[in-house]
Amino acid sequence: MSKNPFLTRSTLPYETPPFAEITEEHYLKAFYAGTSEQLAEVESILATEEVTFENTIVALEKSGQTLNRVLNVFYNKSSSDTNNRIDEIEAEIAPKLAAHSDAIRLNPALFARIKKLVESNPSLDEESAWLLKRYYKDLLQAGAALDEIAREKVKKINEELSSLETQFSKNLLADTNDLAVFVDDEKELDGLSTNGIAACKAAAQARGVEDKWMIGMVNFTGHPNLASLKNRALRERIMRNSLIKGLRGNGFDTRKVLLRMAELRAERAKLFGLNSHAEYVLQEQTASHPDRVHEMLRKIAPAAVANARREASEIEKVISQNGKHELASWDWLYYTEKVRVEKYELDTTAMRPYFELESVLKKGVFFAAEKLYGMTFKERPDLVTYHPEARAFEVFNEDGSSIGLYIGDYYTRDSKRGGAWMNSLVDQNHLMGQKPVVVNNMNIPKPPAGEPTLLTYDETTTLFHEFGHAIHGLLSNVKYPRFSGTSVQRDFVEFPSQVNEMWILWPEVLDNYARHYQTGERLPQAWVDKLNESSTFNEGYATTSYLAAAVLDLAWHSLSDLSEVNDVEEFERKAITDYGLDFAPVPTRYRSTYFSHIFAGGYSAGYYGYIWSEVLDADTVEWFKSNGGLTRSNGDHFRNSLMSRGGSLDSMQMFRNFRGRDADIEPLLRRRGLK
Ligand SMILES: [Zn+2]
Repeated sequence: MSKNPFLTRSTLPYETPPFAEITEEHYLKAFYAGTSEQLAEVESILATEEVTFENTIVALEKSGQTLNRVLNVFYNKSSSDTNNRIDEIEAEIAPKLAAHSDAIRLNPALFARIKKLVESNPSLDEESAWLLKRYYKDLLQAGAALDEIAREKVKKINEELSSLETQFSKNLLADTNDLAVFVDDEKELDGLSTNGIAACKAAAQARGVEDKWMIGMVNFTGHPNLASLKNRALRERIMRNSLIKGLRGNGFDTRKVLLRMAELRAERAKLFGLNSHAEYVLQEQTASHPDRVHEMLRKIAPAAVANARREASEIEKVISQNGKHELASWDWLYYTEKVRVEKYELDTTAMRPYFELESVLKKGVFFAAEKLYGMTFKERPDLVTYHPEARAFEVFNEDGSSIGLYIGDYYTRDSKRGGAWMNSLVDQNHLMGQKPVVVNNMNIPKPPAGEPTLLTYDETTTLFHEFGHAIHGLLSNVKYPRFSGTSVQRDFVEFPSQVNEMWILWPEVLDNYARHYQTGERLPQAWVDKLNESSTFNEGYATTSYLAAAVLDLAWHSLSDLSEVNDVEEFERKAITDYGLDFAPVPTRYRSTYFSHIFAGGYSAGYYGYIWSEVLDADTVEWFKSNGGLTRSNGDHFRNSLMSRGGSLDSMQMFRNFRGRDADIEPLLRRRGLK
């Protein structure tokens, strides 16, 4: 036990977890040691008679450090490099972790202590006062004020929900891998780049399949390759497989799991005297109530669908010139590129040589962060990470002082879940003097050895986006771990990352990074102009498919009981149709059976948050544009009022401090062509 690397603070730079020493045996032991340690810490808090902010709230903030260390590393591992053993460990700890967290948050003695402290109205600095308020609310929302019978029910529900989440993820990853499409003849891949074809070959080989090419499924509905594949039958195969993830009645089916989850969530809301899980979740979000979300979504849904239908008729014109078939969902991305070429003379696949990964990362993403915040980056190949493909960069302020560590893990692999995300391995906080260590994960197909990694425009966007989350973690300058970096309300957390996307086409940034990997020639200005001109192009499709998923999430979580739901697909159809979002060529971005955000990722009743926070984002972009753009003083203002504050004050107050007023929805409507 004494050798378990999780039991003590790491002595490596930035307290980076000692990955070289960590083996799979360490996780469970450290997990159990960590939960016992934290329970003992809570007991000793309760044993002190006098109640102070320091001996209660600060002591809670300092508790559970072993547990935090092991969980941060473990969940990073389980999402980006899992295996059977890790899956087993996750299945074991998920319900135990839920029970552990409830043992603290539903402890009536602890709640009584915090309540007493709140009522004594202690004199505290702003961040501490907010922390006290948050703890009080956290415990209230957990159910600490319920009677004992209700508390026991909540605990049982939470425990079962956490097991179901794990089950959902596990089934989905297995089905997603199983649904990969194999191609016997290279000719079928016509339309993909040479590198793209090589990546398919390598993917098949990685599965031990020689003489075939593999197209792995992604976590959302549309597959990026649908934009380039000329073979319509292959496109159809890909789309059909994409739409049936978790829905095949095999051992990986997720329907039973998600139905039970929706049922349990509705039951839990009732224990709190609320009508639905959506009400339960939203009471602590900036949106505060589902009605406010519906009000906003109903404002934009009809215009979005009308735009999608207009886009469809343009696509149909192109199809009629090329062949004689209907516009199906597997045709949309392919023909929309043709329309784009025809209308704007813009070929996004031809752009890929200008978006080479190293250049996008260092001369684009890092460069923009330097111009705005003075951040600089130095690669540290000497630091061992959790996977050979995960690269560490040390991050500095303009004055040379160190900020933290950034780890980038960009390539796809079967052991990684789909999508792109940011994780934190060490949360910045002054209380324990810790600097941030954050990770970005993406799923870019890995080119064959020696070949450059050429990104699509979408992947470039994703990298800027995820790096926005990383900046939020890195610039964190708070006292308490509870408020570190991205620990903000969920319908606010996407805002800083969305803002970071604005620099992709910013002339100074673009000049620096968007250069042909062979010739060094800059992305032609005519193309950039077209990209700007066509910024609302295909937004009807994107908005409609996003809204369908958001509405589906709200529908599942607005149920007060599940008795009326007999069939998942039927329920889905009805939810989407009721909103007028049913349009066959534009499928929902996520169907229920593969909607990890809401059934495995902590975004239940929260998927609306992307467009909700985009209101703030679009308004912020206007502010930057009208204040001189990419400057150090603008970056400092954004950093000081918002990016460095984590969750240490009310989100909307933070926004007002930055913007000088509440957010305006108009910039978003213009951006998405919804006016
Ligand atoms: Zn994000």
